[in-house]
Amino acid sequence: MTATPAPTPAPKASDLKASDLKASAPKISFVSLGCPKALVDSERILTHLRAEGYELARRHDGADVVIVNTCGFLDSAKAESLSAIGEAMAENGRVIVTGCMGAQPEEIREKYPDLLAVTGPQAYESVVAAVHEAVPPAHDPFLDLVPPQGIKLTPRHYAYLKISEGCSNRCSFCIIPSLRGNLVSRPAADVLREAEKLVKAGVKELLVVSQDTSAYGVDIRYSESPWQDRQVRAKFYDLTKELGELGAWVRLHYVYPYPHVDEVIPLMAEGKVLPYLDMPLQHASPAVLKRMRRPGNQERQLDRIRSWRQICPDLAIRSTFIVGFPGETEAEFEELLGWLQEAKLDRVGCFEYEPVAGATANALGDLVPPDVKAERKRRFMEAQNGIALRLQRAKVGKRMPIIVDAVEGGVAHGRSKADAPEIDGTVHAAFRRPVRVGDIVTVKIERAEAYDLYGSVA
Ligand code: SF4
Repeated sequence: MTATPAPTPAPKASDLKASDLKASAPKISFVSLGCPKALVDSERILTHLRAEGYELARRHDGADVVIVNTCGFLDSAKAESLSAIGEAMAENGRVIVTGCMGAQPEEIREKYPDLLAVTGPQAYESVVAAVHEAVPPAHDPFLDLVPPQGIKLTPRHYAYLKISEGCSNRCSFCIIPSLRGNLVSRPAADVLREAEKLVKAGVKELLVVSQDTSAYGVDIRYSESPWQDRQVRAKFYDLTKELGELGAWVRLHYVYPYPHVDEVIPLMAEGKVLPYLDMPLQHASPAVLKRMRRPGNQERQLDRIRSWRQICPDLAIRSTFIVGFPGETEAEFEELLGWLQEAKLDRVGCFEYEPVAGATANALGDLVPPDVKAERKRRFMEAQNGIALRLQRAKVGKRMPIIVDAVEGGVAHGRSKADAPEIDGTVHAAFRRPVRVGDIVTVKIERAEAYDLYGSVA
């Protein structure tokens, strides 16, 4: 542990050697688990600590303290979080736990009673206070190592932009609102300032995240804040439009099919923001959606998607679905399959229902047996693979812009406008002229699989 420095007169910057500073800087090892929203929390904590002079350690055993940002969304995520805590305890022993699982400290404390602190999600100040107590900062006023855009855990060319915290919906399978509280939106100018800094620092793609992006601003009554020479309302459309002016790709995640989502489709058709919507629909049977207590106008989903495609034919829609929700009958599942065939979504993920402790859906009873859930997932993904393959094959022969995520051995691996990082497909393109990570290049598509595309840089 680093001792608190004795109060001596502040040295001049020129008197300090880099090795002196390094020797006195306390080190933090950080584990970030869970969704992009948790990643943004991690970035904020790290940015704060880095501003105070803490350094990042590559390994737990070389750190003064370890922070584990946990995910508690599903029981499998909780198990992964507990195992990460166990690893940190074994390798270091001085561990602070935060994040979604930190909202239920008893479960963690029972297993690891010697943790230094357990704090809940978004409790940045509590995490920072716990770190101060464990290893006081050796901040040097001459050394501000934090870039203006903060510390990013993502590659330099893309960044997640969190526009709100929490969620005011009460979907019956989800415990996020009880962990993270109701929706709290950031003022539009705050979000835009952060986005502008990121773009100035070289970020080419902004990934807008929250628990419910289309509900942005409802809690603050869409209040205005000053941005450049104008006032901008904290409203989904207004913020999206302004983000679209910054000159980066803007990708919208966690958008529910509320009627006002229609307004942003023309911005996509005009090329202001990416023609991409990540819209977790979870099911298509009105009866199941009612039991799930999902937000949005569920009855008109198909009509809405059709009208969006008329305005913006290139629109790529990504969604996730849950099969085997309590009480899901074979007929309701087939309704979902039929809907999927009609909707022809570009990207789809499917999860078997997991009874998360604390979710109100657990009281519904009538659980679907595990083998039936697995079988439905298999049938669902088989149907979707056929749809995705047909959509992907239609891209062969086309030229499209690709943002390059990695380069190895004469091949660039990147993503089209229809592919978000981590969750969607990859475009693999051979190149002859120099290509670097973060470049946006035009690729001619030559071959297609259900998820990935292959071609060459034009
Ligand atoms: S919209 Fe529903 S699933 Fe998403 S965070 Fe809110 S309550 Fe959970």
